Amino acid sequence: MCFPLTECLVVSQISQIPEPSCGICDLTIAPDVESYELDCGCTYHLCCLMDDLEVLVECPQCKEEIIKSDALVLMILHQLQA
Ligand SMILES: [Zn+2]
Ligand SMILES: [Zn+2]
Repeated sequence: MCFPLTECLVVSQISQIPEPSCGICDLTIAPDVESYELDCGCTYHLCCLMDDLEVLVECPQCKEEIIKSDALVLMILHQLQA
């Protein structure tokens, strides 16, 4: 007999994973909102990063130095022009 216990555990674990929240404004990052994952792995709203990028030197969540990668800078420049 095969118990579906493992399946239930997996499902409950998945449902308990909190939605990612932005470390700058503390709000949940909805899937339809533009976000950016820094090299340290923390995710922020793109608009929050744009506001703070010039003054941010470390990640507000894990204090890793922020590497302002070309991808991020290009994305922000693109956003500013839009
Ligand atoms: Zn935010
Ligand atoms: Zn981080």
